[in-house]
Amino acid sequence: MTNPADAQPSRDRTDQSVAALRTTSLAAVNYADEINDRRVAPAPEAVAALDNLDMDLPKQGDASHTLEQLMSHGSAATTATTGGRFFGLVTGGTLPAAAGARVLSAAWDQIAFSDATSAVAVRCEAAASRWMLELLGLPPACSVGFVTGATMANFVCLAGARHALLKRQGWDVERQGLFGAPRLRVVTSEASHVTVAKALALLGIGTDCIEQVRCDKNGAMLTEALPELDNATIVIAQAGNVNTGACDPIAAICAKAEQDADGSDRAWVHVDGAFGLWAAAAPATRALLEGYEAADSWVVDGHKWLNTPYDCGMAITRHPQAVHAAMATVAPYLAIGGTALPKDMVPEFSCAARGVEVWAALHSLGKDGVADLIERCCAHARRFADGLRAQGFDVLNDVVLNQVVASFPGREDRMTALCDHVQLSGEAWFGPTTFANRQAFRISVWSWMTDTADVDRTLAAIQRAREEVVK
Ligand SMILES: *Cc1c(COP(=O)(O)O)cnc(C)c1O
Repeated sequence: MTNPADAQPSRDRTDQSVAALRTTSLAAVNYADEINDRRVAPAPEAVAALDNLDMDLPKQGDASHTLEQLMSHGSAATTATTGGRFFGLVTGGTLPAAAGARVLSAAWDQIAFSDATSAVAVRCEAAASRWMLELLGLPPACSVGFVTGATMANFVCLAGARHALLKRQGWDVERQGLFGAPRLRVVTSEASHVTVAKALALLGIGTDCIEQVRCDKNGAMLTEALPELDNATIVIAQAGNVNTGACDPIAAICAKAEQDADGSDRAWVHVDGAFGLWAAAAPATRALLEGYEAADSWVVDGHKWLNTPYDCGMAITRHPQAVHAAMATVAPYLAIGGTALPKDMVPEFSCAARGVEVWAALHSLGKDGVADLIERCCAHARRFADGLRAQGFDVLNDVVLNQVVASFPGREDRMTALCDHVQLSGEAWFGPTTFANRQAFRISVWSWMTDTADVDRTLAAIQRAREEVVK
């Protein structure tokens, strides 16, 4: 049988690629052009029309028809996360340079595996790593692994911790597994992110061994509630509580780890800073994270506050050898100061060139631009808090970063209805949450796109929702 592609001259196949990229690029341009005039949550009719994409698989295909389907039915049913009024989860929009890098990356289709498969991907990762460490004020000898998000970044760092702590006890976990292994202790706060538990489950450490530390009312660990931190302990601290933005007292945690250390070995202190670690990159917020640089590993997302496209997170550690031992496919022990291949520092083998988008985001913002993005979002969060109080809402958290949690006194049962009303209006998007045993809603401000007018327009939509569904 002949390959159908062989029936066409190769120029035809090239033309098909060009045509596809040309039409979709134009559609992407139009999408970006109209982003702030669109509904934020898609119209119910547009969601219903997605039935058009869920047909039987055609017997024969045609690229231009395929892309037409996506451009018409798909675009109409997106949530406008790249505009200025999506305040859901704690995720981010997309910077112009990062979106452009994504478009180029789609054309390039590079595998960030080694410099033989993609010199550009590896070099962009290396430069982006160096810039990240500099921006975050972390030691230049740390390694940075580019993964799909903070969930996997927590997994990578905790795998490094598992390796290092068991090795101290003469156990090679990559070879011997966890059956019969010495026990590890895990200390984390009652407010740690759900994905920390997931990472512990994936690692076979499990969640039963977690020693939970009580928090203050803004969701930061209480130093006095910390148990002893011996050298078989992993402490998982948080920079940026998903509800409040609060950061655990990392300096005090590291000091206690030192104090309780046995000889030169101390507990491994890991910082889950999916969005909150970015506070380190701005003068106005850096103090929140005091002492964070003394930890052993850190996690931060690109796709949250840095506004790179999904999915992009970074696993940073001052013990590259431990992460290398846990992640490398063929593992001649990483020489101290040596540079590892991307594939040997992360779970993925063939990887997307995420470093290209991080490189583009950082290069386009510059140091001042990063600080400005963080500080601007925090100022918008304070404006939200003031506006909500003026409407009679209780702001439940101490607004230390970019997060605002609010509820209406006596009408907490209507907070989900309030979120639904705002979403259905198409004006803005944020979701319900529970905080301090109260039903509430949460607004996270992280998009480079958001301006004061977006905040005020969202406050107006909240006011209408309050009049109609909270009463
Ligand atoms: C968002 C978040 C995560 C999970 O991050 P993903 O990038 O969605 O995997 C983990 N920890 C914290 C504190 C977060 O805010």
